[in-house]
Amino acid sequence: MSDRRPFIAGNWKMNLVREEGERLVRDLIHSVGEVKETDIAVCPPFPYLSDLHDVLVGSNVALGAQNMSFEAKGAFTGEVSSSMLLDVGCKYVILGHSERRELYGEDDEAVNRKVKAAVDAGLKPIVCVGERLEQHEAGQSRDVCSTQLRGAFVGIPPEQFRQVTIAYEPVWAIGTGRVATPEHAEEIHGHIRERLTDAFGADLALQTRILYGGSVKPSNAEGLLSQPNVDGALVGGASLKADDFAGIIHAAEKVAMS
Ligand code: PEP
Repeated sequence: MSDRRPFIAGNWKMNLVREEGERLVRDLIHSVGEVKETDIAVCPPFPYLSDLHDVLVGSNVALGAQNMSFEAKGAFTGEVSSSMLLDVGCKYVILGHSERRELYGEDDEAVNRKVKAAVDAGLKPIVCVGERLEQHEAGQSRDVCSTQLRGAFVGIPPEQFRQVTIAYEPVWAIGTGRVATPEHAEEIHGHIRERLTDAFGADLALQTRILYGGSVKPSNAEGLLSQPNVDGALVGGASLKADDFAGIIHAAEKVAMS
């Protein structure tokens, strides 16, 4: 048995303007106020982090960002640093999301530099790995995840790795409605935990939370979250509706209490 607390994080991507985001967060706080066994976070766009932090204060919902620079400060137009995220109240930051990798050319080295910057600053990175459809169909899911994991954590010592959460997000499942089966998720999560055992030792690997991401909804959440190595979910589309996101959180809470 593990004592890993479930963790449900919402990735809003480039959605919801101020009023919509504030309404969602207020509704969410209302719906999940009784949740005790599950960690919860929302990751809104940069411009709203500070205001939403004010709404979230005193609740059981934490704040995260969707990306950050690996640079600390300086002439990097359009970038946001780890200290800025901490300054506006972020606890988490999503790093290496497949949209960053595919649309903005982030490679494993860049993800690694971001992970280092985040853990050095005291932020908790949610590091995404996952294979594309053609890699999945070629039976390469495990190899792709192994390579991305190795790349992301070069030079990260175990005491800093403690701050990390992994998200397995098969690219073919993101925003497609084609969710991975619980069996596939469990297989890859188990593989990821083995690779973490090799890199950081069994104790730390057993403590590390591995989230599943890709078309998670209230209707499929319990099946996924019941798998022994699935410790939560990184949720895109369904995190944009308070009822749907709360439904996933309640599913996690039910599994945690069972
Ligand atoms: C994501 O982009 O992190 C994600 C999991 O999206 P969706 O839930 O919409 O598939």
